[in-house]
Amino acid sequence: MRFDIITVLPSLLESPFAHSILQRAQKKGLAEIHVHNLRDYAFNKHKSVDDYPYGGGSGMVMQIEPFALCIEKLKSERDYDDIIYMTPDGVTLNQGIANDLSTKQNIIILCGHYKGIDQRIRDVFVTKEISIGDYVLSGGELPAAIVVDAVIRLIPGVLSDETSALSDSFQDGLLDAPIYTRPAEWRGLRVPDILLSGNEAKINEWRDEQQLLRTKERRPDLLND
Ligand code: SAH
Repeated sequence: MRFDIITVLPSLLESPFAHSILQRAQKKGLAEIHVHNLRDYAFNKHKSVDDYPYGGGSGMVMQIEPFALCIEKLKSERDYDDIIYMTPDGVTLNQGIANDLSTKQNIIILCGHYKGIDQRIRDVFVTKEISIGDYVLSGGELPAAIVVDAVIRLIPGVLSDETSALSDSFQDGLLDAPIYTRPAEWRGLRVPDILLSGNEAKINEWRDEQQLLRTKERRPDLLND
């Protein structure tokens, strides 16, 4: 699977993909992440990619042309399943969206800045608009990194224990069960006996119960869905 991320701040995206699971996924050849500097597609000598908003008001707007040139170049090289714009007024990211995206081959992600991007880019090129939550950040880079992380860990072969993504929160509509590691007792707090019993069937039963309990307590909305 391949991601092409278009941003005015490529250096912001260096670290998130250079560690741990995301780094391993790239080394194994299961994911490719290409970051494109929007300024390379700026068409004026100052390399600016923003301009004043029509109709006045505060904040700058990202221009059409640099995005259009970069997207068209990428599209001439390969087909894309989706062109995603990260934006607070998009659909809120959830595990279902991540699952769906993990089945795609090639995805472009556009990162906005300032007040956002010219509406015509959204109208002409963008196929999905995704928000990471009801709050406003200063740029689309961190949201893009979140989407890429959530998606890549779902690609078969990326996680070493194949089943571990399946038992994560939201994957089956429930939150995850509590987890423990050694020591079995710490400052008088014991790990639930069932987890030390070695009885796999009973342990699974306990985990199912705990998932349901935790979801009822913390996210009853998930059960209504
Ligand atoms: N004026 C816009 C916010 C612009 S914030 C509005 O009110 O909707 C600048 C950029 O940060 C956006 O273009 C977007 O790419 C990114 N961004 C900010 N908050 C985000 C969020 N919650 N989810 C996804 N992207 C976000």
